[in-house]
Amino acid sequence: MPAKNYASTRFGELAEINEANVKNLQVAFTFSTGVNKGQEAAPLVVRSTMYIVTPFPNTVYALDLSKPGAPMKWKYEPNPEPAAQGVACCDVVNRSAAFADGHVFFNTLDAHTIALDANTGQPSGTPTSATSPLPSYWQASLWLRCGSTVATASGTSRTWQPSDRGPLGHACKHAGCGKDAGWGFARPRQPSHWFCFEHRSEGERFL
Ligand SMILES: [Zn+2]
Repeated sequence: MPAKNYASTRFGELAEINEANVKNLQVAFTFSTGVNKGQEAAPLVVRSTMYIVTPFPNTVYALDLSKPGAPMKWKYEPNPEPAAQGVACCDVVNRSAAFADGHVFFNTLDAHTIALDANTGQPSGTPTSATSPLPSYWQASLWLRCGSTVATASGTSRTWQPSDRGPLGHACKHAGCGKDAGWGFARPRQPSHWFCFEHRSEGERFL
């Protein structure tokens, strides 16, 4: 997921680039999304592929990082409803895709969640749409949880169940609770501690 983990720590644990050699970094390639709008979607790198979601019209690109110039592996155009642009409050941005189980999950501005096969870019399953009354829109990034995705936008959330698989579940640490825990708390570079909605305030001692 774009924020690295459920606590959104965002810190990379990779050690190859450090304080001593960061000055030697050079541009390897550039890529234009072709959309002159707010770019808020962090590129997602899984193994040797980079996945990018553009602002509306939310085209998804897969770039092959194993080859010079990072040529395109595939692209997917979801063709969201143009009317969604009129109700988006902070430009028609997207806030990145997420990856799990060989699929790239992303939201379109017209409030659909779509899963793409990461190798082929083909849609997998049926896109799920928002339940809130129209007009609605989504700019949120996705959180993947227990094999389902949870997208939060404007105070609403919606779950989607692509399969019953999912290694990402956690149990609440509150004594005797053990419920599904969606709130993770961690200091940078430390493991997360997990709590359910009811007990989430207990996680603050781990921050
Ligand atoms: Zn609990």
